[in-house]
Amino acid sequence: MLHASVRPLCDEHDLAMLDLDGVVYVGGAAVPSAPEHLDRARGRGMRLAYVTNNASRTPEQVAAHLTDLGVPAEATDVVTSAQAAARLLVDRLGAGARVVLLGADGLAGALHAEGLVAVGVDDDAQALVTGYGPDVRWGEIMRAAVRVRDGLWWVASNGDLTFPAPFGIAPGHGVLVETLRRFTGVEPVVAGKPQRPLLDETVRRVGGENPVMVGDRLDTDIAGARAAGLASLLVLTGVTGLPELVDARPEERPGYLAPDLAGLFESHPEVAPAEGADGEPIAAVRGWRAAVRDGVLEVSGEGAAGDWWRAVAVAGWAHRDRSGSPPDVSGLVAPTG
Ligand SMILES: [Mg+2]
Repeated sequence: MLHASVRPLCDEHDLAMLDLDGVVYVGGAAVPSAPEHLDRARGRGMRLAYVTNNASRTPEQVAAHLTDLGVPAEATDVVTSAQAAARLLVDRLGAGARVVLLGADGLAGALHAEGLVAVGVDDDAQALVTGYGPDVRWGEIMRAAVRVRDGLWWVASNGDLTFPAPFGIAPGHGVLVETLRRFTGVEPVVAGKPQRPLLDETVRRVGGENPVMVGDRLDTDIAGARAAGLASLLVLTGVTGLPELVDARPEERPGYLAPDLAGLFESHPEVAPAEGADGEPIAAVRGWRAAVRDGVLEVSGEGAAGDWWRAVAVAGWAHRDRSGSPPDVSGLVAPTG
């Protein structure tokens, strides 16, 4: 079921926590119209926070990249999983604590900013922190793994198994986390989405009474927001398409759904499934009607693209809940505009 917002989301929520890849940019370019939509949201009084699981870049580097893409941003508008990891460490250990660092500049800068002392794998330390770092050597990983097995407290920036590199989808920091976890039998404390610390750190740094998380991934952005009790807007400019949307597990389903960031300026209808004459679920949204027949999702009517997606999602989820598998959507083409 999708939530209702009678007022536009930009009036209902004072902070947009924006995922970056798939929301603000894709690959090397801004998502079409994203700079204009974000400018408009700011003009309507929304605070914007750019929230990233990437722990290797500093907030200054991320802000400079966004500014280059036509989205003016300051370092204070960016919150990284490295900053959330440093917060976890300093909250438990206090400033001045010594922490073994396996990662890149973003993580080193975040530790320094909290008054933590980054040390090497053989040095006296109270914790290990790990993040994506292309120059981390296997010998260091081995040494750190043995120390975690022997009881050193371990904080990981994120658990993302994949990472969009310039040369394609590449293994992310989560692959190293899995390796260490298998060897040590130890679960790290994870700072990034879908875990809560990064979202808490964002509200703490940027402020806002009533945030909405805006993301393109169901299993990190949306699941993380839901687990933290926050409102969520799924946009379809990134990795989630029609097949992924109708196959969302209940805990991954967004409260709001829109084709792109223009969804911030719309009111959103509440959409709940109903039962058709044959017992199969239907969902009607303004001019559209979506129904599942013999496992195939069909849509009729006319109206706005956003409402088409909302009808399809809610009918698809209801079918998945009843039958255990998503409906066939291979014949559907989303309208544009
Ligand atoms: Mg993303």
